[in-house]
Amino acid sequence: MAHDVVRSSLVDEQSSDTTSTQPVQHSTQKINLLGMSRANLERFFEEIGEKKFRAGQIIKWIHQYFVTDFAQMSNISGKLREKLQQRCEIKAPEVVHRHYSKDGTRKWVFRVGEGAGSLVETVLIPADDKSGARKTLCISSQVGCALDCSFCSTGKQGFQRDLSTDEIIGQLWIANQSYMEDVDIPERTRSVTNVVMMGMGEPLLNFKPVVESMSLMLDDFAYGMSKRRVTLSTSGIVPMIDKLSEELDVALAISLHAPNDELRNELVPINKKYPLQQLISAAQRYIRKDGNESARKHVTIEYVMLEGVNDQDIHAQQMVRLLKDLPSKINLIPFNPFPHAPYGRSSRNRIMTFQKILSDAGFVCTIRQTRGDDIDAACGQLVGQVADRTRRAEQWKKKVAQQNEIVRSQG
Ligand code: SF4
Repeated sequence: MAHDVVRSSLVDEQSSDTTSTQPVQHSTQKINLLGMSRANLERFFEEIGEKKFRAGQIIKWIHQYFVTDFAQMSNISGKLREKLQQRCEIKAPEVVHRHYSKDGTRKWVFRVGEGAGSLVETVLIPADDKSGARKTLCISSQVGCALDCSFCSTGKQGFQRDLSTDEIIGQLWIANQSYMEDVDIPERTRSVTNVVMMGMGEPLLNFKPVVESMSLMLDDFAYGMSKRRVTLSTSGIVPMIDKLSEELDVALAISLHAPNDELRNELVPINKKYPLQQLISAAQRYIRKDGNESARKHVTIEYVMLEGVNDQDIHAQQMVRLLKDLPSKINLIPFNPFPHAPYGRSSRNRIMTFQKILSDAGFVCTIRQTRGDDIDAACGQLVGQVADRTRRAEQWKKKVAQQNEIVRSQG
């Protein structure tokens, strides 16, 4: 989605990351092992005449111990260490800013190329409870995004490029490493527990690197995360939802944001290609009724609350009808206005009324907490406050206001 929406009261630390997350310098011809899944690494070792089990050992060194220097991998023979040193590297994206909030939220900005348009963001949101045990990392999959959802600051930046597997998994690698070194919090809570592919970009349009990264998240030799705690959020690339279904058992979230095609065509333009009925059918196919352990018992519906646009009772009633045959949990997201945003945030009362209609109809419906309204820190905002290139959103806002006026005047 939008893949954004959380703001935090961020305290800007010094921009350069001075921790050992900095990769060692290597020639660009070397193979970066950071983004290799176990299957690919096994193939790689076979190709260089080594045993497959080395893959598991190396993956542990990289993803559990954060070792970037092959010389420190003590259970690997000296000869192999030398071979790896010559041909390979372990290189994470460069951290150019990091921000640690008073409320526990952490945010990183990574440079993944040259120039202003080559920055991506990752946000870590701790649970809003005393234990602070749950820590959800929102990971980006692309630099910018081509889908141009009208309420999204990332969409306004346009698409730059896809992230590679090492640039995607590198975000989790750096977030986890930041906790490993944090002596101010209890040791048992020093790691990311949940991941959502909900940062910049549409993850299903960068399919292979995203799937490979998620397979590392699930791999016991790497992060060993529960499949129910790894979620891919999509704006609705229907054929790729089916493809994901064949490849991985992870949780699915749909960035819905509108309960009818006319409105969704404007808010989430990919809807013109894959309209709501197709999207809901794909989500139904994704659900698995077998196996208690499946991550696919329901889908999460993300719905950003835009004042006067998609937050009326009629929209909630349309949602009830639309989702009646889809096992789902609904997450209402108060909009975080960004500079030049053409929308406002729905009032608390409006959101609660909307929630009540859905809850009364039997849906589990939560309201996402927002943080730090004082700083423009939602995903896509720190990398550049860019002008809305299309003006389309502004035009649509006017159109919606006119329509609402007509509805009101008709009683
Ligand atoms: S423009 Fe891209 S990043 Fe933004 S909400 Fe749409 S799909 Fe997500």
